[in-house]
Amino acid sequence: MTAPQTTCLYCGKPYAIGPDQCPHCQAPAHQRPQSKLRQFRWFFILLALFCLAMILWLPR
Ligand SMILES: [Zn+2]
Repeated sequence: MTAPQTTCLYCGKPYAIGPDQCPHCQAPAHQRPQSKLRQFRWFFILLALFCLAMILWLPR
């Protein structure tokens, strides 16, 4: 079982998600709010697709 990894945007090296800073260059971690924003964006896209499907499929 491998820990989820992320790539540091500053030095480009992968490291396990968890520490608040990159173990290679000590840059502050910024993945958590970013991934939350990405999740919210995907949720919004899926919701839009669902609404579009309902509009197309429901009888008028
Ligand atoms: Zn780094």
